[in-house]
Amino acid sequence: MRSHPDACPGAVELHAAADGGLARIRVPGGTLSAAQWDVVRLASLELGSGSIELTSRANLQIRGLADGVELGARLAAAGLLPSASHERIRNIIAAPLEDNQALVDEIDAALCADPALASLPGRFLVTAGASVSGLGGDIGLVSGDVGPAGNDAPGAARPASVAAPGIRSATPSTWILLLAGRDTGVRVTDPVDAVVTAARLFQQLRGTSWRLSEVDDGVRKITAHFGATEAPRFTPVVTPVAPSPVTPGVPLGRLDAHQLPGVPLRLTPWRSLVVPAGTDTSGLITDPASPWHGVSACTGRPGCAKSLSDVRADARAWLGTPHDRPVHWSGCARRCGRPAGDVTEFVATGDGYEEIR
Ligand code: SF4
Repeated sequence: MRSHPDACPGAVELHAAADGGLARIRVPGGTLSAAQWDVVRLASLELGSGSIELTSRANLQIRGLADGVELGARLAAAGLLPSASHERIRNIIAAPLEDNQALVDEIDAALCADPALASLPGRFLVTAGASVSGLGGDIGLVSGDVGPAGNDAPGAARPASVAAPGIRSATPSTWILLLAGRDTGVRVTDPVDAVVTAARLFQQLRGTSWRLSEVDDGVRKITAHFGATEAPRFTPVVTPVAPSPVTPGVPLGRLDAHQLPGVPLRLTPWRSLVVPAGTDTSGLITDPASPWHGVSACTGRPGCAKSLSDVRADARAWLGTPHDRPVHWSGCARRCGRPAGDVTEFVATGDGYEEIR
């Protein structure tokens, strides 16, 4: 049982980091128009440290801010802060290569329209799509056309078009509703209503818990509310997007705010982007054989006061060492930003690093 509320930062309520105010900007579904991206870039250059971090929930962070007032005003004017009361709960990760942004927008608007949901924990998470279904959402949606382990049936999803975002792909007649990352046999026909209903039930049941998985009997009670109509058959998966010229990775998850001016983009939970063909991807990872691919790091020194090391510098120095799976560097035992799935970790101890596999 949690004894205190979560402390997830927002875009207005900043986290006081060692290098100044830290703002986390929720981008439900990950899609940003060129104009919105430029607002974020210029805000970082003019108000913050001049860099932009990508998070494992496909959100953005700006560091080095004095306060969140001016940033909040700019984001609101750009449509990136539609609800001051709900901003920290707008955590929706969507499969980045599916045309699902319109559905995400409907879910986001419906969650923000319910005052009772403003006090959901900042850790609350919705996933939409098979490729992100294993990222541990409290609530997840997967097309009912999908196979048992995330293999889309032909026609179930189409590649995203960054140039023309917001087009809903062929809508399945049935959706699998995942609860705490599990298929419990619940099938729904109205995905927006199902997510809002499940979120309300979680809020009623959760007490001081941050996640549905922590609520005693929570998954069973929500399953009982909907009624399971099938034997559970879907195994959640995580299917990262491989680096390419239109799906470039971002080295250590941090962009220089001068990069990608005027480019519409979609954020992925793997600290990479979906960009239009022909985009200048200088400085990004476009080749799966790049030594940067699969390497991530937390903030470390000097940005985080808890850090025992400059993990980003140490990760850069280590680069080139062969690795057969993702590698994550952490400045302390909290291991922030650790990717989901199998990963090799280097955790600073104050006397070097402990390797955890
Ligand atoms: S893992 Fe530790 S050092 Fe790294 S960002 Fe989190 S708290 Fe800071």
